[in-house]
Amino acid sequence: MIAECRICAERFAATQTAHRPRPVVWFAGGARILIAGQAPGLRVHESGKPFTDPSGDRLRAWLGLSEAQFYDRERVAIVPMAFCFPGYDAKKADLPPPRICGETWHDSVMDALDGVRLHILVGGHAHRYHLGTRKGVTEVVRDWRSLPEDVFALPHPSWRNTAWLKRNPWFEAELLPVLRARVKELMDND
Ligand code: SF4
Repeated sequence: MIAECRICAERFAATQTAHRPRPVVWFAGGARILIAGQAPGLRVHESGKPFTDPSGDRLRAWLGLSEAQFYDRERVAIVPMAFCFPGYDAKKADLPPPRICGETWHDSVMDALDGVRLHILVGGHAHRYHLGTRKGVTEVVRDWRSLPEDVFALPHPSWRNTAWLKRNPWFEAELLPVLRARVKELMDND
């Protein structure tokens, strides 16, 4: 079971926070919307619930979802590239999701989520895994109209990307209204 996984115990013990694995698992088999994220941050590690942080507030606003809708596991699956907080690097930025997590768990989770009709890929790690791309985040997001109809690639909603949002106003003006309409359609019809 993912919730009991401790594969990265030694790796996390060696980080600045010396924390233990705490997988944040938030999905159910019947979900229609998948939010494929990166990895929990420290606040989510402490809460045990995904996106309980300013990134989550921004993501919910992007999607037009209330907290109740966002956390309805029967409709929305939240599956990061790693289920545990990876720790900080020397600049206090989150370390990348441990690759072993995706290798160990991801394919079986995706198989279980066979009813998903909208894939929302949040951040470069999710873009690379789900799209098999090596392109940078801006290029992938800017080409959103060329992605399959059921896939949206987003930048990470972190405050670190506030400058990116200012540089790319088309994201909020053009992409988000289409994404919100698609999310609403699925939430209303389920
Ligand atoms: S990050 Fe993934 S592989 Fe590592 S301990 Fe957590 S659940 Fe296990």
